[in-house]
Amino acid sequence: MANEKSCSICGSTNLILEINDVCICVNCILHLNRRVEEEATQKYELKDVLNEFYSHYPRTYEPPKTMPEHYCIYNPAEIMSYLNRCIIGQEEAKKTLAVAVYNHYKRMGHEDIEKSNILISGPTGSGKTLLVKTLAKMLDVPFVIVDATTFSKTGYAGADVDSILTRLYQDAGNNVQAAERGIVYIDEIDKLASGEMMGEGVQQSLLKLIEGSVVNVPISLSRNPMNQGMVQMNTKNILFICSGSFEAFKEKTIGFGSSVPTCKNEVKGIIPELLGRLPIRVSLNALTKDDIINIMCKPENSIIKQYQRLMADDGVKLEFSRGAIDAIAEKVMNDGTGAREIRTVIEELMRDIMFEVPSHPEYKKIFITKRTIQYGYPYICKCEEGEAIK
Ligand code: ADP
Repeated sequence: MANEKSCSICGSTNLILEINDVCICVNCILHLNRRVEEEATQKYELKDVLNEFYSHYPRTYEPPKTMPEHYCIYNPAEIMSYLNRCIIGQEEAKKTLAVAVYNHYKRMGHEDIEKSNILISGPTGSGKTLLVKTLAKMLDVPFVIVDATTFSKTGYAGADVDSILTRLYQDAGNNVQAAERGIVYIDEIDKLASGEMMGEGVQQSLLKLIEGSVVNVPISLSRNPMNQGMVQMNTKNILFICSGSFEAFKEKTIGFGSSVPTCKNEVKGIIPELLGRLPIRVSLNALTKDDIINIMCKPENSIIKQYQRLMADDGVKLEFSRGAIDAIAEKVMNDGTGAREIRTVIEELMRDIMFEVPSHPEYKKIFITKRTIQYGYPYICKCEEGEAIK
């Protein structure tokens, strides 16, 4: 007798599994299984990275037995190995940051060693934010990203500088001790160098936090004084990483914007005390076309792989020719906003494809070529391997 039940996903009657009223056919099981395997290989855990690392380098480093609570449990080479997974190029910057972060957490056990905060310069879209985000993820510490241009000295016109600590406290799950070991990333610091009083006032307020002080921090961002509980937070162990493109200073001889980290403490409009509190200088290079290509294709969660996964959900294999990748990189380079533009270019390219695919279950493979990029042409789309229908 024919089996009358059908697959709850695709309607096929080729059943192998029935759970209560839910039936799943062989094909859907295989498809789901493949998706789960793909997902599993895309997500890499820190322990996997470390295992791979130790397969190349025998473990010579052990955290001290009497380890202070805050000690960094990864050594600089381990940190670098993790950064290499996500960040293309920028080798000097990765190395400097790995050492700086390792030392930062080591210093916490020594009252008499002053902390060194970090200043990152580099063109827009070169990976400044990504570097710091990746570090914070690896170290699993509370982390906030703020934009220096949103602050005003009094908090009247813009956000109050102390709100940075409120956000850090919230990111730490309202745990003051955890927040006091967090990382604060302040972007666009160079924009405070406009020479206006406001910019200088904000710099003075930031300086107070960065050099280490005990601050009364509102526990919520609400401006209603009735809602304002306060906690006391000591900023002496918070790692502050400031960054900016320093485009306006490129032509001058202060070293920012070039690939050589500067030791000088002069950037017109930025108070020297603030620069002095950011002694570790990291300089990122502008990305080359090859970097852009590698960023598109290489990282484990690269943009191309993300779109391939999206298409695979619709049963479609998405492929890019070498010429297409090259043409996309060319477009990205022309835009001048670094790797940030990659997603915009590919999103635009994929829009029509992503619109059509779900209504065409017969589509099995989509091949993007240089022609697709140049003329915005309908993609080449194949029913079966080797057979183009558009
Ligand atoms: P910045 O802070 O320097 O302006 P971001 O770090 O925000 O630039 O970079 C924007 C995006 O571009 C990132 O989210 C990432 O996808 C990509 N990207 C930029 N630089 C790199 C890099 N060196 N390696 C990998 N991806 C990068």
